Amino acid sequence: MGVIKPSLKRKEKKNLNAQETLRELKKIIKQNLSVQEKLDIITKLTAEHLKTQACTFYIMRPGEVLELYATYRLDKKAVHETFLRIGEGLNGEVALRRKPLQVENVWSHSGFVYKPETKELNLNSFAAVPVIHQDILIGVLSVQKKEQYRFNDAEIDFLFIISMILSGLLLNLLTHNEGKVASARRHKKLDAVCLISGLAIGKAYVHKRIQFDTILSSDKLAEQKKLIAAIRKVEEEISQKLLLPDITHEQAEIFKTYLMFTRDKGWAKKINNAIESGLTAEAAIQKVLNEITERMSMMSDPYIKERLHDFQDLAGRITRHLNKKQVKSSKRLSKNTILVAKNLGPVELLDYDLSKIKAIVLEEGSQTMHMTIVAKSLNIPVVSGIKDITNSILNDDVLAVDAVNGFLYINPSDEVLDDFDERFKTYKQRQAQYLPFKNQPSETKDGVYISLNINAGLPTDISNTKNFQYDGIGLYRTELPFMSAEQLPDLKEQIAIYKNVFKEVGDKKVIFRTLDIGSDKILPYFENKKEENPAMGWRSIRITLDRRIILKTQLRALVKASHGKDLNVMFPMITTIDELKEAKKLLYAELKREQEKEGILPTSIQIGTMIEVPSLLFQLDELVEEVDFVSIGTNDLAQFFFATDRTNPIIWDKYDALSPAFLKALQQILMACEKKNIPCSVCGEMASRPLEAFTLIALGFTHLSMNPASLGSIKAVTRTTNRQEANHFINTHLNDSDASLRTLLKAFATDHNILI
Ligand code: PEP
Ligand code: MG
Repeated sequence: MGVIKPSLKRKEKKNLNAQETLRELKKIIKQNLSVQEKLDIITKLTAEHLKTQACTFYIMRPGEVLELYATYRLDKKAVHETFLRIGEGLNGEVALRRKPLQVENVWSHSGFVYKPETKELNLNSFAAVPVIHQDILIGVLSVQKKEQYRFNDAEIDFLFIISMILSGLLLNLLTHNEGKVASARRHKKLDAVCLISGLAIGKAYVHKRIQFDTILSSDKLAEQKKLIAAIRKVEEEISQKLLLPDITHEQAEIFKTYLMFTRDKGWAKKINNAIESGLTAEAAIQKVLNEITERMSMMSDPYIKERLHDFQDLAGRITRHLNKKQVKSSKRLSKNTILVAKNLGPVELLDYDLSKIKAIVLEEGSQTMHMTIVAKSLNIPVVSGIKDITNSILNDDVLAVDAVNGFLYINPSDEVLDDFDERFKTYKQRQAQYLPFKNQPSETKDGVYISLNINAGLPTDISNTKNFQYDGIGLYRTELPFMSAEQLPDLKEQIAIYKNVFKEVGDKKVIFRTLDIGSDKILPYFENKKEENPAMGWRSIRITLDRRIILKTQLRALVKASHGKDLNVMFPMITTIDELKEAKKLLYAELKREQEKEGILPTSIQIGTMIEVPSLLFQLDELVEEVDFVSIGTNDLAQFFFATDRTNPIIWDKYDALSPAFLKALQQILMACEKKNIPCSVCGEMASRPLEAFTLIALGFTHLSMNPASLGSIKAVTRTTNRQEANHFINTHLNDSDASLRTLLKAFATDHNILI
């Protein structure tokens, strides 16, 4: 974008009143007043500034109801007593359409509903805007005038700015348990689905996407500079992408359009005007984006709609740069925080100070989605399936999460807190049960050695397991460091990451899985395609074989990092043997290159494949010819086997991995590997759960790779299982017609004192 020029003098003068009002508002927001008092003043100042006879603010309540929350000049007795359904009356219509509305004569408008308690009899014209924060409707702000009147653009703009201030302020309302809302929330108990078991008590923090706390700024110049710097960063990023050797013509065109947008003078002027009116750069972008979205979304031309996506993406990129510090900041978190979110990606989770997160509560989520896997490695309990949770919990509400029985307590009673205390003690006792096994070999009762390994990727995964016994890293998810980086780590950075892994694990074996991005593992800085079915889309090895430079760089880094060490590389999401051959070729090329440069080669090379796609089940004999080891990714394999999206809470627990069909598939893989005499491990979440791990041992698996937090419980399973008895039991049930063997297996384990 070119230099943002200051607006014309004439305009500045016109904006001055608005600026004074906004400055006044800014002071009020900072004062130690209740939210109600602040809203009363805001509605008054808004009415005075726009010379209207009334101003009202309706807040959105759970259950799709708008409550009159503050008013200037309508009857105060109506406050908290007048309610509108979404779509009811003019304010309800604004809430429904999420678009501004103005009516010159309300009495002749078919949608107008008169609420006698408000005493709005002699008001004729009306204008309103929705108050939205990150896609969530917070309320409606409206003004009314006696005369029939058409509000001009500057006046509607002013309402928009106030609506943004309100959305910021009301985030704060959610941090203060005020009035009716809080009292109505005492002692609630809600049903939840347990994703990661555990108990936690802490203060709620409601996760919001793209947060910016400050909407108003008195330093225009600073805002403009910030904006220019952020735009430059985005331009740099895009220009770098244009230089990528294997960029397609189509992608290059898209990036060039982005560059055109960033240099567009009209857009720059609009943002600049918004900054001139007192907004921060982030808020100014949001305002202009809202306007453009509103205008463009009315057009039916698909090409224009596409451009809207580009525009939204670009605005998001710039905002991310403006917000960089804030995104990583967690100064608002208390020591014991329960993170509450509609849904949460793994990258978003990694943005928080994880040492403060004691549990996660989600509206949507499943056991095998990646955020949950990351949370599990950190031993953070997770519950999901609670509808509308982000709207019904206030920041700082006390939450008690029972991720064992599936309950969430909001502001729990003393009895519940006492009960949790007792259970914390019992939980500790259970952990103590595992203690005697800690230094014992990982052998079954009948002496079969079960190799216990960990799945890692976060630096804490390895450092937290220093005091545990395990054989190695059965799955190092290389994408996790990529996900917490701000841009694609380059060769040097990757070498440093992998060298550090070797250093951390010492003599233990580590299996590096090449980049497994896509689906729900999104790199914010990488080209993300919008796909109908991302889990079955452009992901993992499909991306890295298409963008070879990424895979080549990663393999080069792995080769260089493992100078004088054993290098074990595994490829994810292999669907055809050709893909595996192709990936292997790239690894061999890197080894050859290193050799030609007379670098030090790894002492040994083992190449493996993940089995996550059912197509491989029918080419097992051919597949095992190509590899030195196999690892079964039961998370993905089960989702494709049962055709159930692992991130879709409606169906994710419909089918059970402990079904005879799935267990037989696992057994076939194991048998094919045994025939070729190569190791076969399970590194999906099944290996981390006691009953499932018991079942895998019963089937004959001797290599498990799990979340580090599960090492204790799985060692206990191993030490209390007689493999031969268990094997005999499961073999007699593999041809049952039941949908699941879970109950049977559980009964067997209980009868045989196996610590599941
Ligand atoms: C799996 O699919 O089981 C697996 C281990 O890979 P990820 O969970 O990382 O997709
Ligand atoms: Mg997988």
